[in-house]
Amino acid sequence: MILEQQEEGREPHGLRFIGPGLVVGNERFARAFDAVEDFARSWTRLLGGSRVRSTGTLTTDTVHAAGYFANFPQHVFTKSPYLQEGTEQPPVGYATSPAACLCIYEALRDSSLESRVTYGLTANCGRYEAGSWEDPLRLASFNAFEVVSLGPREQTIDHFHRCRDLLERIAERFPGATVPVATDAFFGPAAAQKQAYQERVKVKYELEATLTDGRSVSIGSVNSHGQVFGKGFGITTPDGPAFSACFAIGLERFTIACMDAFGDDPESWPDLGLGKEDIS
Ligand SMILES: [Zn+2]
Repeated sequence: MILEQQEEGREPHGLRFIGPGLVVGNERFARAFDAVEDFARSWTRLLGGSRVRSTGTLTTDTVHAAGYFANFPQHVFTKSPYLQEGTEQPPVGYATSPAACLCIYEALRDSSLESRVTYGLTANCGRYEAGSWEDPLRLASFNAFEVVSLGPREQTIDHFHRCRDLLERIAERFPGATVPVATDAFFGPAAAQKQAYQERVKVKYELEATLTDGRSVSIGSVNSHGQVFGKGFGITTPDGPAFSACFAIGLERFTIACMDAFGDDPESWPDLGLGKEDIS
């Protein structure tokens, strides 16, 4: 009950901060989160995905093959074993997944795809964010939902467009939300060049919500990766390395934005799962 009593004012949305970028949500938050997970299941169906589960921890080999050490080293959270004197050194080389989709590329490593495959999953992810977390909107540990598709070029671009349409439909139900072209926070000397390319080719769109306190926050995105992951993981199609694209929602942020816009009771929210709609 303590979590219920102390939240008013100081802890909006029923969240208690237990460390930099770390939260525990109370029952009110958990109920809202459940409703958002129901939406996520509906989005998987709408985008033709099959559901999978993953653990959210990767080997550093996977993170390397995904290009994260080169492009987004500021995001990577490695997991080091806790060493005690006199004990044998345990194996190293794990990292918290910085995005839900990376485990899928690892699972499909060196496979050949005749046609597009699409998976929907939620994974516990983490980003170091160069240590600059912003409670509660940029957490060190969070749940990411994604619908990721891999396959030949045309089929994957089609998935990307369907994902963008879905993001726009969701935005229509959020007061003041927009879906602008966006770029990733690349690291290093080529960052500006990579961002300019992303902007020009329109490979990323974000769902930007405006909270009632005026803050704007990205609560979802769609991303077209070209052949980056197909090449990185040796996943092929009859025409060469696989193309990939994903629809991604930060579930904690999305939940906070819903509570902010529509209140604490999910029963009174609009149907953001768009369960009765056809987006083909
Ligand atoms: Zn992704």
